[in-house]
Amino acid sequence: MSEMQVYVNDILELVKQRDPDQIEFQNTAKEVLTSIVPFLEKNPKYKNEKLLERIIEPERVISFRVAWEDDKNEIQVNRGYRVQMNSAIGPYKGGLRFHPSVNLSILKFLAFEQVFKNSLTGLPIGGGKGGSDFDPKGKTDNEVMKFCQAFMTELYRHIGPNIDVPAGDIGVGGREIGYLFGQYKRVRDAYDNGVLTGKGLTYGGSLTRTEATGYGLLYFVKNMLDAKNISLKDKVVVISGSGNVATYAIEKAQEFGAKVVTCSDSNGYVYDANGIDLAAVKEIKEIHRGRIKEYLNYHKDAEYHEGCQGVWGVKCDIALPCATQEEINLDSAKKLVANGCKVVGEGANMPSTLEAIDYFLKNNVLFAPAKAANAGGVAVSALEMSQNSERLHWTFEEVDNKLKEIMENIYKNAKKNAEEFGDPDNLVMGANIAGFKKVAEAMSAQGVV
Ligand code: NDP
Repeated sequence: MSEMQVYVNDILELVKQRDPDQIEFQNTAKEVLTSIVPFLEKNPKYKNEKLLERIIEPERVISFRVAWEDDKNEIQVNRGYRVQMNSAIGPYKGGLRFHPSVNLSILKFLAFEQVFKNSLTGLPIGGGKGGSDFDPKGKTDNEVMKFCQAFMTELYRHIGPNIDVPAGDIGVGGREIGYLFGQYKRVRDAYDNGVLTGKGLTYGGSLTRTEATGYGLLYFVKNMLDAKNISLKDKVVVISGSGNVATYAIEKAQEFGAKVVTCSDSNGYVYDANGIDLAAVKEIKEIHRGRIKEYLNYHKDAEYHEGCQGVWGVKCDIALPCATQEEINLDSAKKLVANGCKVVGEGANMPSTLEAIDYFLKNNVLFAPAKAANAGGVAVSALEMSQNSERLHWTFEEVDNKLKEIMENIYKNAKKNAEEFGDPDNLVMGANIAGFKKVAEAMSAQGVV
């Protein structure tokens, strides 16, 4: 075992010892650090500088009480967090997640991923992530507003356009960002609209931000397939989720001529052999905030199956997981490969387990890893920050063209590094090394901080 492999193993052991119950964080540390060993071997100075010891520790973790009153005047108490992971190349940037499963391990994993993803975009943004165990499902608009106001009343003191710029994630969409921004403006008494991204278009939001992650995923996958002379036209695509990322991944995949046959939510999945009717999905999810099984009210001949895991048993050419972390385990990966799936593009964050990724790579599946493939959302968030600083508003086409260019550059950068380090189709390694390089260089230049 090489000296750098030993160094990385020691660091992974340290991560485990310090926080034995943070499994998601341990997994992402393993994914990133083991794949950058070839780079560390060429750059031994980072071991002397204890760069890995530093990079795995968040610069700051904030945890706070969020007390609010529901519509029955009953007091509710949730936990709020912000993990400010790394600011070497810019202000902390990363979404807020509102979901009952939120805990420190999940937020540290997301913040760690975000550091390298943001670096890959080529834009000057550091990495962070935050959220709460609050569940917006089943809450009235008034309750969501009360919660967001209570959450921001604490968070506001830790964020700012040049400090930390949160955005949406699971459970945090346009409605929540609006309430959060309103409260920030009230308590700060200043119109700092660059403090949050994903805002509405009337108060500093950017065109294309809503579509950016899903569209960006398809731009990345198209680059990857173009390089192999494979067309998306008429390919059968399986997509999980029916939220922000899934919706716009379906839209762009259909625009590229692919046939998307599934979508899902946490209760189950829909299979429509004729191709998913996106207008129906948008009406169910964006207007009624309903469940995906209501799709059958629109298309009686479609199928609904309870349980979201079954979606990976549907025969397809391309799979795009766009719901949540660890939704594709080894069994699901085996099913996909056995059914002829040749391409996997990750829209969600870490949707494939480490074993599943390994299986895909060993079986020559073209694999687009999350931190590269879903970076379009944060890239357009950074473009929203630029527009806020300039006090200008760019057109949809301008932002979309910049998004396309950014996704192409991310693909090329990941591919170049995969080639340079001897495994040309391993974009997991390529993306990790490309993202790590810039952050490591900046940390090294800034001394021991
Ligand atoms: P949304 O809340 O809009 O949608 C999430 C979707 O995934 C819903 O259909 C939801 O179903 C489903 N889902 C959530 N949790 C689970 C679960 N435990 N099991 C099965 N299904 C689940 O979130 P986004 O679309 O914004 O985010 C999806 C993924 O993409 C996340 O991993 C997020 O971190 C990642 N991402 C998002 C970006 C963005 O710009 N929004 C940027 C980059 C990454 P239900 O309604 O039943 O909960």
